[in-house]
Amino acid sequence: MTKSSIAFIGLGNMGAPMAANLVKAGHAVTGFDLSDIAIEGGAMASSAVEAVEGKDVVITMLPAGKHVVSVYEEIAPHLKDGALVIDCSTIDVESAKRAHEIAGKAGALSADAPVSGGIMGAQNGTLAFMAGGSAAALDAAEPVLEPMAGRVVRCGGATAGQAAKACNNMILAVTMIGTVEAFNLGRKLGLDDQALFDVVANASGQSWSTTTYCPVPGPVPTSPANNDYKPGFAASLMLKDLNLAQEAAGSANAATPLGEHARDLYARFVEAGNGDVDFSGIIKMLENDDG
Ligand code: NAD
Repeated sequence: MTKSSIAFIGLGNMGAPMAANLVKAGHAVTGFDLSDIAIEGGAMASSAVEAVEGKDVVITMLPAGKHVVSVYEEIAPHLKDGALVIDCSTIDVESAKRAHEIAGKAGALSADAPVSGGIMGAQNGTLAFMAGGSAAALDAAEPVLEPMAGRVVRCGGATAGQAAKACNNMILAVTMIGTVEAFNLGRKLGLDDQALFDVVANASGQSWSTTTYCPVPGPVPTSPANNDYKPGFAASLMLKDLNLAQEAAGSANAATPLGEHARDLYARFVEAGNGDVDFSGIIKMLENDDG
């Protein structure tokens, strides 16, 4: 594998372990974050501009679209000729489009490559990347992502990665709420959780929300339900992704009534103080609602 010089901007819960896996793979990594953080085996820069100067690759892992666009605007004049920039943050499609435009004007190759797999996936180097960009950008990005990835799916041109992430997580929220409703109804009808699981897991109601992430304790011992819904995929992050999906649906004029309703339910769950609870914990809110 070719070793690259990589600037990694945004070393939070996800970025820090991702950068560490790039170091382990032999890349020369220089990090920058607004907070005082270090990368084991890597160097730290005192600004984003300093981090990117002379680097082959720039990776960003930032909270939201506004952070990505402002960092891209700041670094664009300082990128090495022909540099590759990869944004792995989960952001709105409009900001992703803007980021590609800024990179393109600066003569850089660019990819949007949001991830699923959470902090464990970032630590273990098993993230699923959903990548969008030109064929040349994705050809260049794939070997760079490899040490952080379980899988890289090429989703299409610029912003296709963000679009795929928004669509996937909208399905996840809707199937989770559907699964939660079915277990709540089953219980009220006197049905045993395990019996319902045994039917659904092998029938047409089956989904990841049942077989891998079952929202009731027992049937899937590794699901967060067995640990009082902590840790896992925080409801606040699910709400963020559902808001991004709704923004995208609004601008694309796509009807997503269940996605909208799922967003509203997660907003209520988070407002009630459950932002750091795993998203399957919404069963606790819905089981207390009257029919
Ligand atoms: P985080 O808040 O832990 O980390 C973000 C980091 O960005 C922080 O350390 C912050 O200081 C830094 N930052 C903000 N603005 C900056 C700037 N201008 N320059 C340099 N650094 C800056 O968030 P996270 O959990 O690591 O998530 C990062 C992204 O990954 C988000 O878009 C999130 O939606 C996405 N994501 C998170 C998870 C997860 O499980 N945490 C899973 C999938 C995707």
